[in-house]
Amino acid sequence: MLKNNEESKKLSKKLSIIDINESVKFPKYFEIETVNACNARCVMCTINEWSGNDSQIMSDELFDKFVKEVSHFNEWIEIICLNRDGEPTLDKNIAKKIKLLKEAGIKTVRFVTNGENLNEKLSREVLNAGIDEVMFSIDSIDKTTYESIRVKLDFDKVMHNILNYFQLRDEINPLSKVTIRMVELPINISQKDMWLDFWNTKLSKVDKAYTMPMHNWGNQLGEDKNKVQYYATKACTSPFSSIAIHSDGKVGICAADYNTKHYMGDFSIQSIEDIWQGKRFEDVREAHLSSDRNKYDICRGCDIWDRSYTSKSSKE
Ligand code: SF4
Repeated sequence: MLKNNEESKKLSKKLSIIDINESVKFPKYFEIETVNACNARCVMCTINEWSGNDSQIMSDELFDKFVKEVSHFNEWIEIICLNRDGEPTLDKNIAKKIKLLKEAGIKTVRFVTNGENLNEKLSREVLNAGIDEVMFSIDSIDKTTYESIRVKLDFDKVMHNILNYFQLRDEINPLSKVTIRMVELPINISQKDMWLDFWNTKLSKVDKAYTMPMHNWGNQLGEDKNKVQYYATKACTSPFSSIAIHSDGKVGICAADYNTKHYMGDFSIQSIEDIWQGKRFEDVREAHLSSDRNKYDICRGCDIWDRSYTSKSSKE
């Protein structure tokens, strides 16, 4: 049984559950890495440190096992995101995977993309398959700035694809959401208002555009002593709600654990329930509820789920 204290009450409220022990039933949020590769080399990404196979695509067998297991919890699960760190549009079967999850009754299926491969054909395929949300990462509307951040990508192609996607979405499924995101960096921060104003003219009622500060991948890109102290006694929502499954089935402590340094299990040989209810996750939860999260070096000063996002309503 998990501790019943102030932190667990706060978490229960955030997760809309009565008792924190309910969270141990099954994850509510998933990142399933269908592809462990990317066509870009963004300046803020950890891709050069990934230790896995550089072009690994999840096997159909493993993905089918995933669909089968999540289908039993389709009422409980809030969101399944069809990517982790890799670029999901490199998977030729992404539309088929969306369709399988929607047929399994999953409420919200989405993916995050840099947009370069999302041409008209693929856009039509994912929309027809029933995608609920596509999140585009585009950090500037200035070509030079964009291409200095999203290295290897072609700004004109990305912009064309995103604007075209809006039109196709309106035509095929107007309720499918588009989210546009910008990571705030020293090179683009002065463009923030212009960026928000531009995207707000494109959004429909279901869409959103926002900017967010960069995070440090759970302390893996440098430690901020003030944050380490500030967060030491606060429990993170992730171990109580979210699981990230890598393309080979490995599961780390959370989505930030890109090399599964804090190994929680292996979906290729275990079930999701076995991993989620296992001793390793149990220890992480206990540590977070006991002001002891700093024992996991990745959690020291991590603010991934506490960053403040900036958005503007399209009506402003
Ligand atoms: S504190 Fe950060 S690194 Fe630790 S579980 Fe939460 S999101 Fe992951």
